[in-house]
Parts: sequence; structure tokens; C-alpha cells
Amino acid sequence: AKIVVVGGVAGGMSFATRYRRLNQNDEIIVFEKGPFVSFANCGLPYYLSGEINSLDQLLVAKDTMLLKRFNLMIKQNHEVVAIHPENKEIIVRNDGRDSSYFYDKLILSTGANPVIPEIKGLGLMKHFVLRNIPGLEKIISYIKDNNPKKVSIIGAGFIGLEVAENLAKLGMDVSIIEKSNQILGPVDLEMSKFIENELIRNNVKVYTSKDILEVKEKSILLNDIELETDFLIISIGVKHHSNLAKEAGVKLGSKEGILVNEKFETSIKDIYAVGDAIIVKNYLTQEDTLIPLASPANRQGRQLADILNGMDVSYQGTLGTSIVRVFDLTIAQTGLNEKQLLNRDYKVIHLMANDHAGYYPNATPINLKVIFEPKTEMILGAQAVGKKGVDKRIDIIATAIKAKLKVSELQELELSYAPPFGSAKDIVNLAGYVAQ
Ligand code: FAD
Repeated sequence: AKIVVVGGVAGGMSFATRYRRLNQNDEIIVFEKGPFVSFANCGLPYYLSGEINSLDQLLVAKDTMLLKRFNLMIKQNHEVVAIHPENKEIIVRNDGRDSSYFYDKLILSTGANPVIPEIKGLGLMKHFVLRNIPGLEKIISYIKDNNPKKVSIIGAGFIGLEVAENLAKLGMDVSIIEKSNQILGPVDLEMSKFIENELIRNNVKVYTSKDILEVKEKSILLNDIELETDFLIISIGVKHHSNLAKEAGVKLGSKEGILVNEKFETSIKDIYAVGDAIIVKNYLTQEDTLIPLASPANRQGRQLADILNGMDVSYQGTLGTSIVRVFDLTIAQTGLNEKQLLNRDYKVIHLMANDHAGYYPNATPINLKVIFEPKTEMILGAQAVGKKGVDKRIDIIATAIKAKLKVSELQELELSYAPPFGSAKDIVNLAGYVAQ
């Protein structure tokens, strides 16, 4: 059979390599409109400061290796511009020339596109988004050629904060402008304040509840203040990249995301989709949602390969576990936050304990918030912030949610302990005691 993949990064390449491991006979072609496949989007912000210092490190797997080891036909700089499902045909554009290819199964992993707001005067100032390696190179060469001193970052989500940290490390004067009343939407306000303070401590200016009324040549005008700035980074979120599917007649759902079932089948036979382009079910509420994260995209790609090779696998939904480092602090969350629980009965506990035994040097506090349903004791979500050990605690609770542990059962978890690593009663165990 002929397997054609559109989009050669997280979901697409996980699909292609897994499919090849399960099936050595089928022909697999991957079309990627950009110049690179299998690059590490998540690593891009760290290249700005030089923390990751070679582009090579961002290229997770090169096309030559993918051909040699996996027998994948990789076509970079090839954009799929149309799908004709009635003939099982696609039209591919390379260097201005169009050609036609046929498929037996078509896999769309076209990702997401950054949202660009409509702001008066935006064209007057240099502005960038960070989505791929060519985009990264544009920012780097702008900085090299113009030696800018002041940058404003619009949108305080994960990518905005990572870029803020990395540009501040370059010595730039960084301002972050956020429309809502808090930074980092996936956590609740009181937890976001730890990170806001950390940004301010590192001389990053944070403006929340602010609209940008106008962009001028050397400044931006907010509701009540005008900020001098040399250039802008726009990171206000993404939308599903679904226009190719839409034009082919594939059914879309909320926010124009591609609708798929738990087997990643779209509304058109033999066309499948994974990754940021699709609507997923929230694991806890079963509501349709957009959760644009790498780990779900990779998992979906792999699962689709399993499904197409006859394995009994179904997608369970996405929990949306996420994490970000901002200077010396790390914040992570899993499941639902209070803003998502407006119509539900829930209880919140807050606790603080050290990442490891206090008598052992360099213990640092972790602030942990756990949200649960009082009647059933179902864990609905958790958020944690601290210098160390935050990833471990949130990952334990994310695992507990999938294992359907009750909140009081967190006290039963037998976690590894010696003084440099934890405490005889870990903060996750303590959460179980407090919730009891
Ligand atoms: P992508 O990996 O974006 O791949 C889609 C590809 O499809 C693109 O390369 C695109 O060029 C190609 N394409 C689209 N249309 C066509 C077409 N018509 N023809 C040919 N090719 C096409 N997630 C995390 O979980 N943790 C992180 O720390 C994290 N950091 C991030 C940092 C940055 C700067 C960015 C941009 C993203 C980050 N993400 C992170 C998100 C993560 O990268 C995405 O969720 C993930 O890559 C989605 O996988 P995907 O396969 O759906 O899309």
C-alpha cells in the first residue's frame, strides 16, 4: 500500500517511523512544506540565548538517516496544496511546480498556525512569531543586524515566557503584554503570581489586563501607557492548521479543528489526522478542545500507526500536562484548573513542603495545589511551582489521574526516598493526608 503523510514533524514523523517498524513493505512518503523534517520545535526558544548552541542539535533526525534506517521517502520543501479524495490523489507544490501523487491512506499532521492579532499600525514595526527553524533564523538575523535593545512580547503563554527568558538572558530589556488578568492561562491566578514575581525579579516587565491600542514605529500604545520598543514577538496562541483538510471536504469542528474519532479517522474514508490540527477530547471532561502539545501529538502519531497495522488501540483523550521554566522557577500543571471548573463541585487544597529533606543542604520549597471532587474524591487537577522537583510531583499526579486514584490514595504512594531526593513524607503524600 502507499502511505502518504502530510507534515513531517512531531505527529507525522512519529507515525511514519512507527509504521515502518510494524510494516516493512508499504511505501511511505512524507511531504513537508518547510526545509526540515523532524526538528525540535520545543527547543527553538533556547537557541535564542545560545543555551542550545547549534542548529544541528535541533534537528532530531535527518532525512538521510530516515531514508537509510526507516526507508522513508522524505520530501522537504514540498507543500501539499490540494486533496482530491474521489481519486485518492494529492497535488504537491515544489519550487513553483505542481505534481500529482496517489495514496491508499493519507495522514494529515499539519500542526497549528500562530494567531496574529489585528492591531492598528502593526506593519510599522518588525514583528515575529516563533514556530519553526526559518522563523527562528529570521529573529536571530534581525537581532544580529540591528542590535535591538528593547523587545515586547505579546502573549504570556508558555512560548512567550520561554522567549522572554531567553531574550532577557541576551541582555535585552523585555516587556510582556498580556490581555487577560494573569500570565500563563493553564494555571490559576495565585499560582501564576509566583512566576510573575520571578520575571519582575529578573527585570522583565509584566503588563497584564492590557490591550495594545496601536503600534507606532518605535513604541506601542497600551490602555494607559506607551512602551518604547524595537521589535515584537507575537505569541498569543495557535489555531488548528486545517485549511487543506477543509478544502478537501473533511468535516471540521469547533475552532476549525479537524474532527476525528478515537481511531483518528476523519469524515472522509482513508484520510486520518493527528496532532495540533485535530480536536481532541479533554480526558477528564470529554469536551472538545485544542491542546497543542508535543507529547499528545507524538502519541497520536504512534497510535495511528498501530491502528493501521491492526492493533486494538483507541485514543483516550488528552489531559494537557505541561511545564515551563522561567529563570530559577519551574511551574507545571495537569488536568483542569479552577477557571475550567465553574459549573462543578470541587475542593482545593494548597500546601508547601521542601523538595527534599530540610536537613539536607539546598532544600527548596514546592507550592502545590490539588483540586478534587469532594463526593467522589476524583483528582481533577494539580499545579506546582518551585525551584526543583516540580516536574516529578506533577508527573506523579498526572499518572495518578490516569490510574483513577482517589485524592486520599495519594498518601499510599510509596515514592523513592533518601535525603538528597525527597522526604519520608513527600509533598504528594501530604496532599493525600490533607485531602482525607
Ligand atoms: P508540527 O510539529 O507543527 O508539524 C506540522 C508540520 O506540517 C509543519 O512542519 C508544517 O510545515 C507542515 N505542514 C503543514 N501544512 C502542510 C502542507 N500542506 N504540506 C506539507 N507540509 C505541511 N509542546 C510541548 O509539549 N512542550 C514544549 O515545551 C513545547 N514547546 C514549544 C515551543 C515552540 C517554540 C513551539 C512552536 C511549539 C512548542 N510545543 C511544545 C508544541 C509542539 O511543538 C506541538 O504541539 C507539536 O509539534 C505538534 O505536532 P504536529 O505534528 O501536530 O505539528
